[in-house]
Amino acid sequence: MKKKELVEVSRCDICGESGAIYDCLICGKDYCYKCHKLHTRDFKYMWWAANEKQICNACLAEPGARFSPLLLALRSMEAVHAESEAFYKKQEKRGKELEVEIDHLLKLTGDNER
Ligand SMILES: [Zn+2]
Ligand SMILES: [Zn+2]
Repeated sequence: MKKKELVEVSRCDICGESGAIYDCLICGKDYCYKCHKLHTRDFKYMWWAANEKQICNACLAEPGARFSPLLLALRSMEAVHAESEAFYKKQEKRGKELEVEIDHLLKLTGDNER
């Protein structure tokens, strides 16, 4: 027996594709994967987890008074993540340089037990 069911679908507000799984935190517009890449920006909102929230380009330009402090905090989080990544890369580079140096010095001192 056929039944009519009311199904809620989220369609991308840009291309109309169904299954839009991204939405702007500020205006609530829905985006499919492809359009979210073009029209929104991802913000990590947790320190360790990779979870992200999206804000569309229009809202980024004009977040409004209510969302401005939140956007500022998200941008700061973004900056801290970038700093941390740069720091880690620097440490890794230095660590690898030291590894080569130590390896060389160990050989010079006759330690072959590596
Ligand atoms: Zn789309
Ligand atoms: Zn928006």
